[in-house]
Amino acid sequence: MAPYKLLPLLAALALSCSDSVDAGRTEGPRVVCTTAMIGDLAREIAGDEASVSTLFGTDMDPHLFRPTRDDVRLLMAADLVLYNGLHLEGYLTDALERVGDSGVEVIPVAEQTLLEAERIDSGPAPDPHVWMDPSIWSRVPRLIAGALGQQRPSERPSFMARAAAIEARLLAADEAYRESFSALAPERRVLLTAHDAFRYFGRRYGLEVRGIQGTSTTSEASLSTIEELVNLVVERDIPAVFFESSVSERNVEALLEGARAQGHDLQLGGILHADAPGAARTYEAMLESNVSTILRALGVGQETAAGDDVR
Ligand SMILES: [Zn+2]
Repeated sequence: MAPYKLLPLLAALALSCSDSVDAGRTEGPRVVCTTAMIGDLAREIAGDEASVSTLFGTDMDPHLFRPTRDDVRLLMAADLVLYNGLHLEGYLTDALERVGDSGVEVIPVAEQTLLEAERIDSGPAPDPHVWMDPSIWSRVPRLIAGALGQQRPSERPSFMARAAAIEARLLAADEAYRESFSALAPERRVLLTAHDAFRYFGRRYGLEVRGIQGTSTTSEASLSTIEELVNLVVERDIPAVFFESSVSERNVEALLEGARAQGHDLQLGGILHADAPGAARTYEAMLESNVSTILRALGVGQETAAGDDVR
């Protein structure tokens, strides 16, 4: 065989190694993130020193995401994969394992950030919705910067500086949210929403959280759950229930109808963004939007705001 015929084969072998030098590439390491809550941070921290892509769209339900061949190919070609973990990416978990086995650096950022003492359990499994507490999520930027710094050591100081800036922003937002929620009357502090994604959020800001559908959207709400929640709404005089942008509206509508059938004027408090930023587009705007939607709907002595949110 002539030597030149070996070249394509060697090139293919080189590409399959995560630490291969890709001569045609100028944008640095390839980073693939699963959720926008991770991808937004990674993109800002990376600046121009890495190319960052996000697998889940801004309206996509991560619990139901099934990877295509192209998604798996994208993951296999990455230098670094950042995912949530704690079983958020249910159907993707096998593929992520295979990608990790092939030598790509694969990091479950929520799993690695969350301390044992901070963990909320949901039945036998941990609740994966850790980004809902920005005081915990504020530690994710440094983790990402560290992982990017491994890929590109010369840029580590700039990665760390950008991570510190995001951390400061998230901590400042958290402080402001705590103050706003503390003004809410204690009996109004009940958050009723489509699925159980807000427990970290509720714990942080003193809200009792009830999801209609459980922690994962793969399970359906039962009729008895709806009935139980209708009773809670009537008993506690809860003013509003919320839609979520990435979750089916059917269950929320059943609850609205049930409460109204009992003569309770339950309102739609607006749309919350739980597992994807939706119309808010970014992680930080999604937090802002959720906080203002909830405060507006549960606010003391104010009319509940029906209709859609997004400032
Ligand atoms: Zn969820």
